[in-house]
Amino acid sequence: MPVAATSAPRSRIAIVTLTIAILAVAAAAWELMAQAPQWARTDLRRTAELEGSELTNRLRLADRVLRSIASDVAANGSNSAPLGSTERLYFESVTFLRPGETPIQMLAASATVPELTPLMQQTVARGESVLVTTKGQGQQPATVTLVRALAAPSSDKAILAARLLPAYLWPATVAGPAASGLCVRESGGVTLHCTEPAAWDASTALKEELARSGEGRAWAGSNDHWQAAATPLQLASPFAASPWAVLVIAKSTGSGASMRPRAVLGLGALGAVVLAGFAASALLRRRPARTGPGPSDAHAPAGAAQDGGSEPALADADVARKMQYQQHAIQAMADIDRASLAHAGVDRMLVLASGHLLQCTGCAAVVLTVLDRGMLNRMTVVLAHADGAEGSPEQRAVDPSIEQLLTVPTNGSYLQQLSGFALLEPLATGGSTSAFVLPIHQDGQPVGLIALGCDEIAGVGADESANARAIAVRLGVALTSSVREEALYAHTHFDATTALPNRQYLIEHLPQHMSRARRDGGKMVLLFVDLDGFKNVNRSAGHSRGDLVLAEAAARMRECVREEDLVTRFGGDEFVVVLPRVASGLDARRVADKLLVALALEFQIEDAVFQLGCSIGISIFPDDAQTVDTLLRSADSAMFDAKAAGRGRYAFYDATVNRTAIDRNALELELRRAITNEEFVVYYQPQIDLRNGRIDGVEALVRWNHPVRGLVSPFEFIGVAEQSGLIAQIGELVMLQACKQFHEWDELGIAPLRISVNVSSLEVTRGDLVARVDRVLSESGLRPMHLELELTEGVFLEESGDNLNKLVELRHRGVRIAVDDFGTGYSSLGYLRRLPIDVVKIDQTFVRELGSGKDASSIMQAILDVAHGLGKSVVAEGVETEQQRAQLLAMGCDVGQGYLWSRPLPAREFQAFCQEWRVLSRPVALETA
Ligand code: C2E
Ligand code: MG
Ligand code: MG
Repeated sequence: MPVAATSAPRSRIAIVTLTIAILAVAAAAWELMAQAPQWARTDLRRTAELEGSELTNRLRLADRVLRSIASDVAANGSNSAPLGSTERLYFESVTFLRPGETPIQMLAASATVPELTPLMQQTVARGESVLVTTKGQGQQPATVTLVRALAAPSSDKAILAARLLPAYLWPATVAGPAASGLCVRESGGVTLHCTEPAAWDASTALKEELARSGEGRAWAGSNDHWQAAATPLQLASPFAASPWAVLVIAKSTGSGASMRPRAVLGLGALGAVVLAGFAASALLRRRPARTGPGPSDAHAPAGAAQDGGSEPALADADVARKMQYQQHAIQAMADIDRASLAHAGVDRMLVLASGHLLQCTGCAAVVLTVLDRGMLNRMTVVLAHADGAEGSPEQRAVDPSIEQLLTVPTNGSYLQQLSGFALLEPLATGGSTSAFVLPIHQDGQPVGLIALGCDEIAGVGADESANARAIAVRLGVALTSSVREEALYAHTHFDATTALPNRQYLIEHLPQHMSRARRDGGKMVLLFVDLDGFKNVNRSAGHSRGDLVLAEAAARMRECVREEDLVTRFGGDEFVVVLPRVASGLDARRVADKLLVALALEFQIEDAVFQLGCSIGISIFPDDAQTVDTLLRSADSAMFDAKAAGRGRYAFYDATVNRTAIDRNALELELRRAITNEEFVVYYQPQIDLRNGRIDGVEALVRWNHPVRGLVSPFEFIGVAEQSGLIAQIGELVMLQACKQFHEWDELGIAPLRISVNVSSLEVTRGDLVARVDRVLSESGLRPMHLELELTEGVFLEESGDNLNKLVELRHRGVRIAVDDFGTGYSSLGYLRRLPIDVVKIDQTFVRELGSGKDASSIMQAILDVAHGLGKSVVAEGVETEQQRAQLLAMGCDVGQGYLWSRPLPAREFQAFCQEWRVLSRPVALETA
C-alpha cells in the first residue's frame, strides 16, 4: 500500500489529537491562573507580619541615623555637620529646635514641626525617640516625624525633628500575594498610608470585622470580594508611639474557581501531556513518508521509501533512528540558544552540545574544544562518551596539533588516523579508529573544534554529519553573542578600578545567597566596609593614585576571605563583603578582624605612602533583616555606629550581638593567655562498679584556675574554646595531664581500671585525633586499654563517615569509646548497634527523674536492655542518692558516677580517696554481691 494512503488519516488523527492537547493545556493553564490569586488566610497574615517587621526595621534604622545626627550635633553644633545624600535616603526634612531660638532647617525646606504631647515630651527628655504622626489634610498624605533630644538624658531642651521620607517608609509593592494592597493605620482609625484606598473604603464588611476584633491583635478575614489580614506593630519601644496596625488586602476571585479541587488541575495537565504524546508520536511516524528519500537515506536499503504499507522492519528502524537523531539536533539547538540567552556560560553550552552531538550522530565519543578568549594558549575541552556520564569541561594548555585541525573545511572532514593528535587520543583510547572533525567558527575565525569518534566501517552518515554541522554553526553563533553579552555584562556588573563585582552584581546575587541560607537553616553575613581617610588620598594625591589605593584595598580584602565569599565595590570607598554561609553571625568577627588589620597596613603607591583603615558594619540574615534593601541598610547603619565609636573598628547591627561579641572576644583573649600560663587543671571523679562497689574508672574533668575568678567551670568556657578553635590545645593539655597522672597512679598500684577523657566533637571532626592520642600515649607511657574517650552523640552522626573511621582506628589500638550524655541528643537506640561504642553514659537528667515517675525508669530500663543486648557497658551519671544507687543496681546498671561517692577532686585528693576506698569498699562489695 502506498505510504500516502496511510498518511492522510494518520495526519488527521494527529491534528485532532494535537488540538485536543492544546485545549487541555489551555484549560489547565486557565485553572492555574484562576486559582493563583486565591490566597490562604495564613499567607495573607504572614505577608502582613513580614511587612510589619520590615516597617519596624525601617523605623528603627531611621532612628539610628537620627541618633547619629543627634550625637554629631551635640558634639559639634548644628552647623558643623552638613547633612547630605545618606540622610536624604531616610528623611524629607530634619529640623533643629532649641526653645526660644529660631528653628534651623538642617535638611530640605522648612517643615512644620508637630506638637508634642506632655507624655511625648517626657519620653524625649528621657533620651528616647517618639514618633509623631499628622493626619493628611485633603489630598495630602499623613506625615510621620521622629523626634529626639540631642543627648540623653539631658537638661538641654534642644531636639531634632526628622520627617520620614514616604518613599523610604512605605513600600512601593507588597511582598506577598499579587494584586494586594497595604494600609498602615494608627489606633483610632487614622490611615497613615494605603496603596488601595478605594479597595479598602469599599470593603465595609472587612472594616467592621476588623473593628470588632480590634486592631491590636493579629487578624484575618474575608468576604465575597476581599480578603484581609492585620497585624499590630510593636512600636511602644523605643518610639513611644501609639499602636499601628499593618493591613494587607487582596481581591477574592469568586468562590467557583477557588473551590475547584487541585485534582482537576492535575488531571487536566496529565491529560494534556498524554494527548500531546499521542499527537507527537503520530506526527513523528508520518514524517518520513512526507519527506521522502533524501540525502539522509543514502545508507538506507534501496526501495525502502517506496515500500510504504509493508515497510520492511530494517528500513522502519533506520528511518526512526534518523528521525530521532534529527529531533536531538533540533533539541540541541534549542538548548544552546536557551543557555546562551540565560548567560549560562561557554562551559555549560559545550557540555550540552557534547551530549546532543552523540545523540544526533550515534557516535561513540566526542571531543569538543574551544580556545579561551583572553587567555592565550588555553582551551576548554569536553570529552563525552555515549555510554558514560555527562562530560565535564576541562581547562588545558593549547596542544600544537590543534592548529592543523582548525584548518579543516567548514563542512568537516574525516581523519582516518587519530595518532599524532594529542587532542583526539581519548577517542582512540575509547575504541574509535577514525574521527569526523568539524571546525567551530566565530566571526569567520575558527575558534573551536568538534571531533566525533566513529569506527571505520560505519563512519558518520550524511544526515548525521549535517546534524553535527548545524550544531557547530549554532555554537559559533552562541559564542559570538556570548562574547558580546559577556562584555556587556562585565561592563554593567563589574567595577573597572578594582575588578570587583559592583553594587548591581551584589543586588542581583544577594537573593540567591539569602534563599540558600534560608534553605540550609544557616546564616548569611554582610560586612559593610568603609575606608577611613580615603577622601584625603583623593584630595592630596589625586584621583589616579586614589584609584590605585582602591585597587590595592580590594586585593587585600579578597585575601581576607574564602573563595566562596563575595567582595564587592559598593561605590566610592565603600565595599560590601558577603559571607554566604556561616554557622553563627559571630563568625563574622574573624573576617572583620582580618579586614581591619589588612586595611590598616600602609599603602605604598608609587612614591607616596598612605595610612588608611576602615570601619565595618555587620548585619546578619535572617536575624537582622529579611530583604536585600534592609540588610544593606542595617549593615550601613552599623557602619555608622562603628565610625561614631571611633573608627577602625566593627559594630554589629544588633546591639545584643555586639555585647556578646565583646564578651566572647574578651573570653577568647583570656583563654589564650590561660593556655600560655598553664592555668588549666584536671579534676578527677571516680566511677563505681555498682555490683562490687570497686572504683571502676575515673573521669578527668577540666577546670580553669583563673587568677582572679578562682576555679571556673568548663560550662563557662568550653563553648568559646570550641568556637575559637582553642579547644584543640586545651583538649590535648587535659588528655596529657590526665594520662600522665593515671600512669603515675598505676605505678603506685592504686589506679582504677581506666581513665576517661572528654573530647569535643570539633576535636574529632577537625583535628587529627588519632595522631594526638598516639602522641599522648607515647609521652605519658599509658597503655591504650587504660584510656577511654567520652564523645557526645553528635560525633557519631556526622555524614561523611570520617569521624567513625577515626574512632574505629582508635578502638583497634585498644582505646575505649564512650557516648556521653546519652539521651540528650539524637538518642536513637538503633544507632548503638552500628557504631563503634563500648560504653553508654546515661545523662544525669534520667537518673534525677528515676524516683519521680514511671517514664524515666522505663526509658532507663530500655536503654540498659538494648545496650546490654549489644554487649555495651552502661554508666549512670549524676548519682546523688542511695535510693538512686539501689534502683540502678536493681535495674542491672553496671557503673555509677556522682556526688553520692565523690565530687570531682584534685589529683592529690583523688589519690587519698582511692587509698581510703580500698579499705572501705570491701564491706559494700560483700553486701551487694
Ligand atoms: P560531662 O562529661 O557529662 O561530665 C559530668 C559532669 O557532671 C561534670 O561537670 C561533673 O562534675 C558533673 N557531676 C558529676 N556527678 C554529679 C552529680 O552527682 N550531680 C551533679 N549535679 N553533677 C554531677 P563538670 O565537671 O562541670 O563538666 C561539665 C561538662 O564539661 C562535662 O560534662 C563535659 O561535657 C565538659 N568537660 C569537662 N571537662 C572537659 C574536657 O577536658 N574537655 C571537653 N571537651 N569537655 C569537658
Ligand atoms: Mg563526660
Ligand atoms: Mg556527661
